[in-house]
Amino acid sequence: MNELFQLIDRLEQEHSLSCDEYEVLLDGLTPELAEYAAHKASKAQHAVYGNTVYVRGLIEISNICKNDCLYCGIRRSNHNCSRYRLSEEEILSCCSEGYELGFRTFVMQGGEDPHFDDELLCSLIGKIKKAYPDCAVTLSLGERSRESYEALFNAGADRYLLRHETADPDLYRKLHPEAMSFENRMQCLKTLKEIGYQTGCGFMVGAPYQTNRSLAADLKFVELFQPAMCGIGPFIPHEATPFSGFPPGTLQTTLFLLSLLRLTDPGLLLPATTALGTIDPSGREQGILAGANVVMPNLSPVSVRKKYELYNNKICTGEESAQCKSCLSRRMESIGYRIVTDRGDRKPFQAHRMKKKEGIINVSV
Ligand code: SAH
Repeated sequence: MNELFQLIDRLEQEHSLSCDEYEVLLDGLTPELAEYAAHKASKAQHAVYGNTVYVRGLIEISNICKNDCLYCGIRRSNHNCSRYRLSEEEILSCCSEGYELGFRTFVMQGGEDPHFDDELLCSLIGKIKKAYPDCAVTLSLGERSRESYEALFNAGADRYLLRHETADPDLYRKLHPEAMSFENRMQCLKTLKEIGYQTGCGFMVGAPYQTNRSLAADLKFVELFQPAMCGIGPFIPHEATPFSGFPPGTLQTTLFLLSLLRLTDPGLLLPATTALGTIDPSGREQGILAGANVVMPNLSPVSVRKKYELYNNKICTGEESAQCKSCLSRRMESIGYRIVTDRGDRKPFQAHRMKKKEGIINVSV
């Protein structure tokens, strides 16, 4: 057996490789190696989660954003974007519809819209938790102050998703305007974890200027940070951004990374994202088979779905929530998995872990 297959075996046993070794694996990616990794990842996933897939209802609360990330279709500079924000009543009605459909986690995601201040969000979170005490509330609203994260946590938010976007500081600078900083993003993630959120990080695959070295740094970062969740999906260009001319990330690399992430942490919550379903009609099914264990159907009102356009050709913008849920249930059943009506908390997996050192994790690229 060659060296690459042995590295997969070692990752399966030790849940850790060096940055150089992750890079060697990515450089050596072949269909055979990907299949080998997917098989091992699937085994690890079954050992912790069986054939269950967790489901989260995604509510896209606003596409108004003060940031100007170069890859993102709702960036401030995109004047062609028709802006919206949902009212509290609209958000609560999405939750009510979602609850009836069996969702027990609501994810509120949006641009960095100053309208959603702490007062408004705390009141909203309080109302959701009061109406649905058996549900988890996840926020994905970007970078905020420690005080704000604390207030939202105290109001009842359980989880926070903040993709680190890249663990390579040089790449971070190429993907973001000067006003944003790698250090602050990483500090936010550390703060979220300290406060007690079930914290999710994540990154895009195939982003402009991304190298296998950068991706290796992402894998090492996830391994050391030990998030509850990690969201990854292919970069997909949006016509009204400076990155319109770049090619999308590939299915093969995204699937391989899902498998490697599953092997670094068999308990990790790993979504098969909408972006993965956008680059290939069976992308999400293939994602689950490669190691993912979460799907996030859209619960946003159909009237705003097309406006939350982070990238072009986004799927699921026309269907009602019930259709999205039943479509995904069918898709999961077709590959031998079943969606569960459950908060879907992460299961512990710490078996071979050594206590990792505290502090900001610096992965040398
Ligand atoms: N404002 C929030 C939510 C961002 S949108 C925040 O800052 O966390 C959620 C994720 O979509 C981003 O973190 C980014 O990784 C991803 N995304 C944005 N533009 C994309 C594109 N063109 N292709 C693929 N994914 C994209």
